[in-house]
Amino acid sequence: MYMGPSDKSKIMYTSNFKSAQNIAFEPKKYRTILHCDANSFFASCETALHPEYKNVPMAVCGSVEDRHGIVLAKNELAAKYNIKTAETVWSAKRKCPELVTVRPTYGLYGEMSQKMNRIFYDYTDMIEPFGIDESWLDVTGSQRLFGNGREIADSIRERVKNELGITVSIGVSFNKVFAKLGSDLQKPNATSVIPPDRFASIVWPLPVSALLFVGPSSVTAFETIGVRTIGDLACCADDLLSQKLGKNGLMLKNFALGRDFSEVTPSGYEPEPKSVSNGMTFKYDLETESDISFAVTYLSLSVAERLRKHGLCCNNVAVTMRRQDLTTSNRSAMLSHPTCLFHEISKTALGIIRSNLKQNEALYSVTVHAEKLTRQGENDFQQSLFPFPWEEKYKKLNSLENAVDNI
Ligand SMILES: [Mg+2]
Repeated sequence: MYMGPSDKSKIMYTSNFKSAQNIAFEPKKYRTILHCDANSFFASCETALHPEYKNVPMAVCGSVEDRHGIVLAKNELAAKYNIKTAETVWSAKRKCPELVTVRPTYGLYGEMSQKMNRIFYDYTDMIEPFGIDESWLDVTGSQRLFGNGREIADSIRERVKNELGITVSIGVSFNKVFAKLGSDLQKPNATSVIPPDRFASIVWPLPVSALLFVGPSSVTAFETIGVRTIGDLACCADDLLSQKLGKNGLMLKNFALGRDFSEVTPSGYEPEPKSVSNGMTFKYDLETESDISFAVTYLSLSVAERLRKHGLCCNNVAVTMRRQDLTTSNRSAMLSHPTCLFHEISKTALGIIRSNLKQNEALYSVTVHAEKLTRQGENDFQQSLFPFPWEEKYKKLNSLENAVDNI
């Protein structure tokens, strides 16, 4: 329990700290915000890729040949040797001679970060990434579907661990600043809730440096006026704060009082699509082979273009056919190889329609779906030990279609 400011003599009270705790918020307006922070992110990504690092002290380091290389991230075993992020490799090796040092893998962390945000996206589209391994999520509107803040946080932690092999610490609170603070309270793999009615007892005893935006120079300035804990800050007089820290001092005091109303601002994150489709209801029923062929080619063109825009290929093509009598059927076909070429997609789609449409049957509407998507180059050529005959042709056609997209 917070017992009041740590050094009363140096603090001028605006009022006593009990009244500062009674902040008039309208309960209805409480938001539920999560801050998700991956634990030792770079090291965890490397371990997910190389499980053999799990049982040895390991650090991801800048150039090791260079004695000035520094530790970028370390696993828990390395942390036990008191190895710190940003210390030199040389000094880390002195603390732990058997330390395994790993060079950062280009592209891996960005990819894992995308995958992590993709999981967050299943719970809310209000995601604000903060660096590569941290994101704020506003889940206020998601609770009816997925449970309360803690339940959502626990479910996210479990999915990230199972699907990506990395752990996250999540803070749950009614504003961004406390959610961020909450994610620092327990590591690794934990949910910490800072509720509006009990935040003072959790947050106020902590050192003021635990608060977002309080850097070393602010800590020094705070020390001169006897502010050591967040509770001290919450109770400090405004004029003293603005005298020592300017407007920032007052902003930080508001944070300490739980008055952070900044919003989770989604910053352009767009998840990779799980499938790409294009469909149309035509003005006239499609009756002839050439009508159908024209429509399917037209639809496949934009499907292929969107696949290429995301750098994806499909392994499956499906067609939804709606007939004049308004009955609908959906049929699909596996491809012999992944593709993002419109003529391959349309050829497959037409094949599906031909084998499912009876003589003289007309179509009212058609949708072409590209499904079972994989990254270009991830799953296609690399898996084959020797080149398939279509490989060369595919490469040429792909660059041709790409050129057409660019025009
Ligand atoms: Mg982190």
